[in-house]
Amino acid sequence: MSTEATPVVPANANAQGILNTVIVGSGPAGYTAAIYAARANLSPVVYTGMEPGGQLMQTTDVENYPGYPEGILGPKMMEDFQKQAERVGTEVRFGMVTEVRFGEDGIHTIVVDGTEEVRAYSVIISTGATAKWLGLPSEQRLNGHGVSACAVCDGFFYKGKDVAVVGGGDTAAEEALYLSKLCGHVHVLVRRDEMRASKIMQERVFDAPNITVHWNTSTDEVLGEEVVEGVRVVDTNSGQTREIAVQGFFVAIGHKPNTDLFVDKLDMDEQGYLITQTGSTRTRVEGVFAAGDVQDKIYRQAVTAAGTGCMAALDAERYLTEKGYV
Ligand code: NDP
Repeated sequence: MSTEATPVVPANANAQGILNTVIVGSGPAGYTAAIYAARANLSPVVYTGMEPGGQLMQTTDVENYPGYPEGILGPKMMEDFQKQAERVGTEVRFGMVTEVRFGEDGIHTIVVDGTEEVRAYSVIISTGATAKWLGLPSEQRLNGHGVSACAVCDGFFYKGKDVAVVGGGDTAAEEALYLSKLCGHVHVLVRRDEMRASKIMQERVFDAPNITVHWNTSTDEVLGEEVVEGVRVVDTNSGQTREIAVQGFFVAIGHKPNTDLFVDKLDMDEQGYLITQTGSTRTRVEGVFAAGDVQDKIYRQAVTAAGTGCMAALDAERYLTEKGYV
């Protein structure tokens, strides 16, 4: 595929047709990296990917991003991020990066949509992660209307109400504990007879007076027409179904980092998250940096993604200066 790609020279490239910085991915990490890189005169190009704006495009109200006292809709926030990045000199190009070739000569090649290729001295990877879903039509239909994959983002809307959390890992435990401080009752639905979460997190879940763990319980259907009104669950031993009344349904069965492109090219942990050097966004390849959820399985917030996006741009700028590229 790569051999048939046509070289493309974006407007922001230098006289040799090489970009200082290509940013792959257009969530809060990518656009923040772009704002900082553009203001440092690096003339970055952002490739948006197939879902411009990233996970926030599937979010309704964002109330925990500082600077928006009235809250803001996720898609509007990403539109503002893009406008700000463009206003300071970023070139935003719609396209999916389909291949990367990290060059030993310090020039990296990015193939877009399998047909175009651009060259750059530095690459910031901010391809994000994708929440895993159960795959039920009712879950999809009620997404944003009671179904969520982020308690920190949406828990506030369920103050005093009863909710369910699906999953038995650390994320589910953390989400359940977070929700237990806001909600009336939290039902944790665990499909096996044990949780995968660390012992200490499990103990906290068991000790919380308003959390009930339902073992051997899988989700059959999320109930409700316009908004979530309950969940029908199945006992995986007996096959019996029953309904639990809840107003919120939180899916916490893990995330998949979007790193397929980088297999065998960059270091990853066992779940596929990119590994960066401690205290920086540098990967093991010179001139290649990672920011946002693609390298963060713990915090996963828009504001932390933006923070690491800023770090990546500063790291890239320092690298380009050290190498004498700028
Ligand atoms: P995990 O993969 O660890 O756990 C996923 C959980 O979801 C498992 O209990 C799994 O069940 C369950 N599950 C998967 N698919 C389904 C399904 N279709 N229906 C019902 N249940 C399902 O993901 P996490 O996001 O919890 O954690 C990912 C990594 O991040 C882990 O290494 C974790 O330790 C780490 N992490 C650390 C945190 C911290 O240190 N503060 C916070 C959050 C995460 P089963 O066990 O049966 O497979």
